[in-house]
Amino acid sequence: MRKQIAAANWKMNCTFQQGEKLLDDILGAEIGLSAHRFAVFAVPYPYLLMTRSELEEEQNYYAAAQNCHHKKAGAFTGEVSAEMLHSMNINYCVVGHSERREFNAETNAMLADKVNLCLENHITPIFCCGEPLAIREAGTQNDYVATQLKESLFHLPGVTIKNIVIAYEPIWAIGTGKTASTEQAQEIHHYLRSVIAAQYGEAIANEIPILYGGSVKANNAKELFSCPDVDGGLVGGASLVAADFIEIIKALK
Ligand code: PEP
Repeated sequence: MRKQIAAANWKMNCTFQQGEKLLDDILGAEIGLSAHRFAVFAVPYPYLLMTRSELEEEQNYYAAAQNCHHKKAGAFTGEVSAEMLHSMNINYCVVGHSERREFNAETNAMLADKVNLCLENHITPIFCCGEPLAIREAGTQNDYVATQLKESLFHLPGVTIKNIVIAYEPIWAIGTGKTASTEQAQEIHHYLRSVIAAQYGEAIANEIPILYGGSVKANNAKELFSCPDVDGGLVGGASLVAADFIEIIKALK
């Protein structure tokens, strides 16, 4: 079975102490994850080591960065490189979240560089794609997200693209309380997989986890994750409430 992943995105929330408590509360639920089920916590940079050490004894629980820089190293004050993350044994990094695309003007080309640097440093990129409301209303969401994949990922050879995770996050559903219906989620996840299959073949397309993000909550996770092409979720708001994220982890297939 494909990897199924519940990924928390804390964004710029929680003090250090609140973050520690949140992790303790979630781990206190003792949800054993083995084989194909994973929980990943994308936390602010200063909390990465604490998160990694909290999760050290747990099987299939991982810390993730929320971003990395698109250049290897150099005079980029305040930035963090993929190589630095690797040197701290961080295994996952969110790349191309819509908030960074919007507020930090991240382009598809820049994201291709970030993906490359992550992979060179043995970090699994959680590559975000997804359309704004106007594109959904115009009905052109498939072309929009396919272009995001093509321009940021399709330079990779098949042996390498297998190592990424995709998160489809319709921008109109992020932090709005508006969730894509299971039909909408399944339809576009299936489409994305078919675009990957057309480029790389069915076998590779079937290996790549495609997470859904956009107002995933404790009460809708199970239904969304039950879709055949939805392999878990990237979760913002509900990942900040231990009881909710516990339910979301439990909802993984
Ligand atoms: C996100 O930040 O990636 C996200 C999906 O947020 P929320 O779950 O709050 O919509």
